[in-house]
Amino acid sequence: MKILAFESSCDETSCAVVEDGRQVLSDIISTQVPIHKKFGGVVPEIASRHHIEDVLPVAIEALEQAGCSWSDMDAIAVTQGPGLVGALLVGVAAAKAVAWAIDKPLIAVNHIEGHIFANLVQYPDLEPPFLSLVVSGGHTMLVVVRDYNHFEILGQTRDDAAGEAFDKVARVLGYPYPGGPHIDRLAKEGNSSAIHFPMGLSKGHNFDFSFSGLKSSVINYINTMKMKKEEIVAEDVAASFQKAVVDVLIEKAMEAVKVTGMKTIALAGGVAANSELRTRLEEECSKRGIRMCRPSLTLCTDNGAMIGCRAYYMAKAGEFADMSLNADPRLPFNAEQIKM
Ligand code: ATP
Ligand code: MG
Ligand code: FE
Repeated sequence: MKILAFESSCDETSCAVVEDGRQVLSDIISTQVPIHKKFGGVVPEIASRHHIEDVLPVAIEALEQAGCSWSDMDAIAVTQGPGLVGALLVGVAAAKAVAWAIDKPLIAVNHIEGHIFANLVQYPDLEPPFLSLVVSGGHTMLVVVRDYNHFEILGQTRDDAAGEAFDKVARVLGYPYPGGPHIDRLAKEGNSSAIHFPMGLSKGHNFDFSFSGLKSSVINYINTMKMKKEEIVAEDVAASFQKAVVDVLIEKAMEAVKVTGMKTIALAGGVAANSELRTRLEEECSKRGIRMCRPSLTLCTDNGAMIGCRAYYMAKAGEFADMSLNADPRLPFNAEQIKM
């Protein structure tokens, strides 16, 4: 089964052709990062306009690279949400138009489920059940993937997402959007015990996360240092902040492994690209005999392949959308909330 998948939830216009869920025949990503950089973050209206310009050329390139024509597609998939409404609408309109024109079924995918399924693209042998730590620009969650179409949420952030905290801290340090990669690079040169930043909602607070207190305390630190005209060592700030984030992510992930008895943990979302998170999680997992999965850097951030993969398993379960499909900027993650 060949699926043409559209992803346009934020600032990447992407289209992929995915065969039988895991075989990526093409995955074209047109990023708007250089455009939004000068504004310090994604400007929704500008993002929508660029998606409109890019969506068809990107789809055509995806087909060409896969050596396919429109009519070779067995289904059309699209990110329905969550994301920026104007951005999502472009993908949804394009996918509906193509599905109607070639008379093939439409599949509406949840973007966060897509991020998790990027792991299935990366590891052909990976099968549920497994635990997933989702750390993206807008989400932080611990999810049990019980089966391909059955998820359980263990916990999620009560305020800021991990990626959001990275972006905001980088911004006050004077680095452009997206800030995560800058913090990652600076932290390598810094001393992580130079400054003590509080770890949000650690032990005893179940599996929920909180990053806004940490973010504020980093911003307060920087402002105080500026007021006192003292030197700010950006490398030390980055390393100390990153350690505080990674400490809490790892603590909760390992506790979740223990409580659920899962033998595999899959990292998902843009922050999964963070080098400290990857290496430290790998160490902790290997101590416990747990398999750690993480998508390649391109599969961590937004891409069409992960949407095509997720869509395949929905199609197998008969979960199709119809022409009344609309974008949903706050599409809920379809899962059971479980109390541990
Ligand atoms: P969501 O998926 O929640 O809707 P999004 O699609 O904007 O949000 P992603 O594409 O998953 O988010 O990831 C982007 C985020 O990943 C940004 O916040 C970015 O700073 C962060 N990021 C990317 N690389 C790194 C890194 N090496 N270290 C830390 N954060 C990173
Ligand atoms: Mg992005
Ligand atoms: Fe994303």
